[in-house]
Amino acid sequence: MLVPSHLKLYSYLMPAQTQPIHLRDYTLEELEAFFIELREKPFRARQVFQWMWQKGVTQFSQMTNISKALIARLEQTATLDRTQVVHISQSSSNETRKLLVRMLDGKTVEAVLIPEESRVTVCLSSQVGCALDCDFCATGKMGLARNLSTGEIVDQLRHVMAVSPRPVTNIVFMGMGEPFHNYDRVMNAARTIHHELGFGIGARKITLSTSGLVPQIRRFADEDQRFKLAVSLNATLDQQRDILMPINRKWNIQTLVDACRYYVEKTRNMLTFEYVLMTGINDTTGDARRLVRIAEQVFCKVNVIPYNDIKGTYQRPSDQTIEAFLKELSTGKFPVTVRWSRGDDIDAACGQLATISDKSDTTRHPSKQNTSTV
Ligand code: SAH
Ligand code: SF4
Repeated sequence: MLVPSHLKLYSYLMPAQTQPIHLRDYTLEELEAFFIELREKPFRARQVFQWMWQKGVTQFSQMTNISKALIARLEQTATLDRTQVVHISQSSSNETRKLLVRMLDGKTVEAVLIPEESRVTVCLSSQVGCALDCDFCATGKMGLARNLSTGEIVDQLRHVMAVSPRPVTNIVFMGMGEPFHNYDRVMNAARTIHHELGFGIGARKITLSTSGLVPQIRRFADEDQRFKLAVSLNATLDQQRDILMPINRKWNIQTLVDACRYYVEKTRNMLTFEYVLMTGINDTTGDARRLVRIAEQVFCKVNVIPYNDIKGTYQRPSDQTIEAFLKELSTGKFPVTVRWSRGDDIDAACGQLATISDKSDTTRHPSKQNTSTV
């Protein structure tokens, strides 16, 4: 098996490395290549992968079916360390919890657990911050610090599972960052989450949300990925979307809709359009009518998200306005859902995730209620 060139793998022929290898960053295939380099049997990779993720161990010495000699070798060259939970916020009105997760370089991201009656969803971050600067989003206001590694993404799930009251059923890449700006690592993370020796979550229970990166949507279609795709549309006119989502100046609504059509035609999978509803911006019945015309071009459902406050210039429309918008939208030939976000009392709802990074342990609102430090 060829060793992937982007990985610095340990070889017993090479001089001892100073930096330990982060095994959590490896896919199963990459781990197999690593063990072949070590002149070990590839099935060791399956064992270690299962220990790391399915069984969630944090020390090589806990891997009871691995020989002492191999454990000693792994301890010398590799590490399972990736991230640490430094803070947990608990919503006062429901079971939603937000975890502040710190990477080895001190940067922090947030992951959210959303238990509901019929499912338990985990919202994962893909980047520290985001470069896309959408005007209504707290993460966008941070700018981009860096991409997360595969291990840093999957580790969030390991931590959230440890505090979940019930088994996790759904994963959404709707936390901090633009998943398609970190395409390869996010796809590797999704594969690990899906793998039977990882977390065994069905591909159709894993959703990637993008602000509309057209080349990556086409790539996702060409690769025939089985994970679900959501596209944040949020406006029906280029003049509106140019202001709300600067990415629209690069790929406008028609170019985006064409890519979405390409995706559904190629994969036969339904796509979700997300539409954040903001007072006086995109919430009129005229907006709804235009949204119907756009959505009817694509095999899709539309998920309406009433705006969550980030202390910016926007506001959530009144219930009456939301109802009128939904009524008009219901004339379209596609399903419509509304995401009444949970966890906004702890800033854990869509668009509210943001951290003060680097060496800090504090969230944007460190004084919010019901928080505990671990
Ligand atoms: N970058 C990706 C995924 C993260 S954002 C994307 O943009 O799709 C996840 C979702 O939260 C997106 O649909 C986005 O439009 C929405 N969102 C951002 N800010 C929001 C806010 N203040 N209120 C409600 N939803 C918001
Ligand atoms: Fe980034 Fe998505 Fe927020 Fe836009 S909405 S700034 S793409 S995280």
